[in-house]
Amino acid sequence: MPYYLHFIEEYPDIFALANATEDQILKSWEGLGYYTRARNLHKAAQIIASELNGVFPVTYADLLQLPGIGPYSAAAIASFAYELSVAVVDGNVLRVISRITGLKLPIDSKEGKAYIQNFADNAIQFALPSAFNQAIMDIGATICKPAAPLCKMCPFSDTCCAYLSHETDKIPIKKNKISKKERLFIFLDIIINKKYTLLVQQKNNDIWKGMFLFPFLHDVDNNYEKSVQKLTYELFGKKPDLIIHKTSNKSLKQILTHRIVYAEYFQVIIDDIPEKINKTFHLVERAEMQNFAMPKIMKDYLKNLNI
Ligand code: SF4
Repeated sequence: MPYYLHFIEEYPDIFALANATEDQILKSWEGLGYYTRARNLHKAAQIIASELNGVFPVTYADLLQLPGIGPYSAAAIASFAYELSVAVVDGNVLRVISRITGLKLPIDSKEGKAYIQNFADNAIQFALPSAFNQAIMDIGATICKPAAPLCKMCPFSDTCCAYLSHETDKIPIKKNKISKKERLFIFLDIIINKKYTLLVQQKNNDIWKGMFLFPFLHDVDNNYEKSVQKLTYELFGKKPDLIIHKTSNKSLKQILTHRIVYAEYFQVIIDDIPEKINKTFHLVERAEMQNFAMPKIMKDYLKNLNI
């Protein structure tokens, strides 16, 4: 909540958000996760400011035209902000409705999703849209939990098919289980002349796009130190004066939607400021590192160093 309030304070309206740079927004978004959302908010604000005279769209169809707004967000905005009868269907709603109806279709199939959306779109016609959507999401989050749902205190217990047929552990049915890919990043915390470090802005579409990172290697084999030496040589044309493995007892870990990321940190000590530095890297004072948008896994490392 404090991160959210800070963000809202910094960008109190569409124009403030539209006029900021992407780097400023990513920095302000720290702690809120899912950085793609920040980039999409920025793009949406720019479109609303420049093409729609700063007026936020008010229909479901127009909301869907904005970057980052799909059926779920459009339904949430349309119902919460404008009381339009559009049902929100998220993971919680899929679970609640599949159990109430005793659905035998997988909830991650096209047919299963369409059935549930149709059911919810019909049901919402009989209620205040904002209250309906909020209530069904809340029941999913607090009562109809994935494991051990609290059926005895649920308002649907008299009619819920899954409860009455003792199938709450079998429904919802899922076709595919999401498996999270594991990735290892080796970060080089390069300490130059005791005062500077190198940061690189992630430009490609890999994770952490737009954020600032230490130079890194990923998915290397076990001989990390050799890989660190090699990268240092590529960066500076010389061997490091000293290498210290900072996370040898326990890798830092960050869990993302589809990945589990592990990080190992090596401090690489370089005594002299290199004459030439590749343009992709930023030579930054270590005391200034806090001013750059960085992923949580780097923030955690810097916190351990009291930076
Ligand atoms: S009765 Fe149980 S399974 Fe059915 S909706 Fe309520 S909490 Fe979920």
